[in-house]
Amino acid sequence: MQHTITLIPGDGIGLETSAATKRVVEASGADIVWEEVPAGEACLETYGTPLPEQTLEAVRRNKVAIKGPITTPVGTGFRSVNVALRKELDLYVCLRPVVSLPGAGGRYENVDLVIVRENSEDLYAGIEFEKGSAEAARLIELCKETGAGVIRPDSGISIKPISVTASERILRFGFEYALANGRAKVTAAHKANIMKYSDGLFLQVAREVAQRYEGRVEFEDRIIDAFCMNLVKDPSQFDVVVFPNLYGDIASDLAAGLIGGLGIAPGANIGDECAIFEPVHGSAPKHAGKNTANPTAQIISAAMMLEHIGERECAKRIREAVAEVYARGEHVTQDIRRATASEKPAASCTEFTQALIDCMTK
Ligand code: NAD
Repeated sequence: MQHTITLIPGDGIGLETSAATKRVVEASGADIVWEEVPAGEACLETYGTPLPEQTLEAVRRNKVAIKGPITTPVGTGFRSVNVALRKELDLYVCLRPVVSLPGAGGRYENVDLVIVRENSEDLYAGIEFEKGSAEAARLIELCKETGAGVIRPDSGISIKPISVTASERILRFGFEYALANGRAKVTAAHKANIMKYSDGLFLQVAREVAQRYEGRVEFEDRIIDAFCMNLVKDPSQFDVVVFPNLYGDIASDLAAGLIGGLGIAPGANIGDECAIFEPVHGSAPKHAGKNTANPTAQIISAAMMLEHIGERECAKRIREAVAEVYARGEHVTQDIRRATASEKPAASCTEFTQALIDCMTK
């Protein structure tokens, strides 16, 4: 069956990892028509925005997209296009399977857990007040008046909203995912001991949702700092882990570090209407344009995408080729050579991609 997929190549190493992904998906035998649309800083001049309406429209129309990373200016400039895409399309689930890949230099051999990160609120909601602004002053005054607390007048302020609505739907997704994928346990990670009205609410909803799955899926909760220590000590104790937005962001990179690095960590942003598949990593500017980036994370994201659209055989071909190329270890990129402390020469992004394609078409 033919599928039209939106392709957002991104920028930085995204241009290279997206080109590699496209080649690998085509070699898998999937019948894909790509609708390529832009996003990011390069759009500013032509469209006056880093996220043109035509890009959003293409994702809405095709329902499924694959995306390379997009650079976000730090501290100043436009807000994250990645966050805006998730918000505009209500992609409230960020799904990130963290699975060991033999040959990738992971710290453990059998990591197999799934990060489910809430994608629409928390400190990521982008509700912020600039230091010295009239709005910040009003908020500081309100906190003083209501006895909520004293905020220094030279503070910038970010708001952390956590709602029942968003917590309920992400937790339900976590439990449903566990059931559908034969997973035994859901862990909710939080800091409810300190942030009682935000993380405390998330935990309360988690416990309520867990009750509906009693006897079918086990449930536990962990305080986020203890969770991080336990994850590093023994990742096998976790199965599906549901996080509010910011902790999920940080835990994703932490977990990627356990399996060999960001170069092999895939992901998806999923809503009720559409889904965008993308690697966990960013645009890694220091590698951009050098043909040294590892495209594996985006390629496995594409395998997740193919599974999502029912092309399981094509996805399997890609996953098997990735496993084989890593197991052989002859054509892996520089990040993996470092993770495995190997002095053998590293493959370029295109050499690695060709090795995968050769594997699928031999
Ligand atoms: P990053 O993930 O881009 O890179 C961190 C480091 O990890 C790199 O310097 C590199 O050493 C390594 N790395 C990451 N991906 C790799 C790959 N595929 N192959 C080889 N090595 C890889 O994180 P950063 O440097 O904090 O962010 C760079 C930019 O990307 C920022 O503008 C950030 O906002 C953006 N970003 C975008 C997304 C997204 O598009 N979804 C996600 C995260 C960060």
